[in-house]
Amino acid sequence: MGYGAAVVGIEVNLAVKTKRKIIKTAELGGLVMNPFRKRTIQISCLLGVLVGFWAKLGAGQESLDESVKDRKSPESAFPVIERDWTEAGEKGRKIRGSVLKVNPNHVLMKLADSGKEKLIKKSQLSKLDLAYLELVPMIQNDNSQYEQTKSTWDAMPQGQFPSVKVAKQYQTSFPKSPYGLLMAGIATACTTPDYEEAESYFEKAYKSLQTKEQLLPDLTPATYVTCCNNYAIVMWREGNANTAVKLLAEAAAIGPQPAAFLIHNAKIIQAENGKRSEKYQVSKKALTTLDELVNKPFASTREKLKNGVMHFSLSVDPPPAISDLDALLELHFAGEKMIDERFLEDPAFSDLMASKNCPYEPWCMSCGGKGVFRCPGRCNRGTISVPIQTLEARGIRGEPVYGTRYEQKACPACNGRGVGDRCDGCQGTGRNR
Ligand SMILES: [Zn+2]
Ligand SMILES: [Zn+2]
Repeated sequence: MGYGAAVVGIEVNLAVKTKRKIIKTAELGGLVMNPFRKRTIQISCLLGVLVGFWAKLGAGQESLDESVKDRKSPESAFPVIERDWTEAGEKGRKIRGSVLKVNPNHVLMKLADSGKEKLIKKSQLSKLDLAYLELVPMIQNDNSQYEQTKSTWDAMPQGQFPSVKVAKQYQTSFPKSPYGLLMAGIATACTTPDYEEAESYFEKAYKSLQTKEQLLPDLTPATYVTCCNNYAIVMWREGNANTAVKLLAEAAAIGPQPAAFLIHNAKIIQAENGKRSEKYQVSKKALTTLDELVNKPFASTREKLKNGVMHFSLSVDPPPAISDLDALLELHFAGEKMIDERFLEDPAFSDLMASKNCPYEPWCMSCGGKGVFRCPGRCNRGTISVPIQTLEARGIRGEPVYGTRYEQKACPACNGRGVGDRCDGCQGTGRNR
């Protein structure tokens, strides 16, 4: 048995112990992630002796200049954190150092003991280290954007939605972080009835969260549920029924049990489905998912959700601190699942379960928020093109040669107004009661 195998044994052992620690801390209501730190230090001490086994890993120094040093793009910025890096494969030898630069294939590292720079191929690193390398820059940006947007998130449950312009500004510094995108989506859907624009923000936020979830599940569970739910509402309103059902089912699978608003929204889809024209209805296959969803037991709430209208969610949780990332990754790679207490102790998730930050949708569902229906004549803003036969020329024997021209006329269906009847559902206001 080599050093590597011994280390694996220690890691599994500690992972089990740590699981108990989490529960304990959760009961005390303290910060759940804190006990992880202690463990990282323990492991570092144990493995300190193993540094040096890794000396061979720096092979390939010749590619240093073109592959790392010349890279100027901002994504290569990596915070200076000294940690143990593990070699891929069974032996799992360790090296201690901090990342100077990262590119698609290599990492330039500063070694802790010698202070020398070493170029390491990514393929020589463990899966945990590779996940760490990918997550750190993303989580660093997410943390900055969360801090920027925090006060606006706190104001939204009181009905103070930011303008779309303000929400979009948060996107400029960290365009791939989910908080600004989610806020832009919510602001769009709640201050204008433009679901199509809202969809593009939610779609990007969803992809951003999914990328991180695949590397480390349950990283920001409340934010993920909120994203799926709100994205599902705009998809449903736009007629994309199957995606809406799929997203709600995905959100309902996160945490110990689904939040009340998820099941509430699923029931509305079920009730509205039959009234839609067939091509916008939920497919047979997705109907099974929808049936399962509406019958799921869910977290009970003190306040009743408003009948017949879907509810947006405004609960977002912050990303973890970079310093906790190693411990979280170790638990994940040891096969640990996020335990129920971790969800319930998290304030953002408790608010989500209690449907606390969840106002209903603001736009009339009969007219999509426009207050009027489309002109039944399908005219172009009040005008229609009318073909008129005209005498173009005369032939040799004086016979007429006709041509067709088009004349713009006021649409008779709407008397040139460009819209159909006023919506009675909202008395023309476009707002939900
Ligand atoms: Zn018309
Ligand atoms: Zn209406």
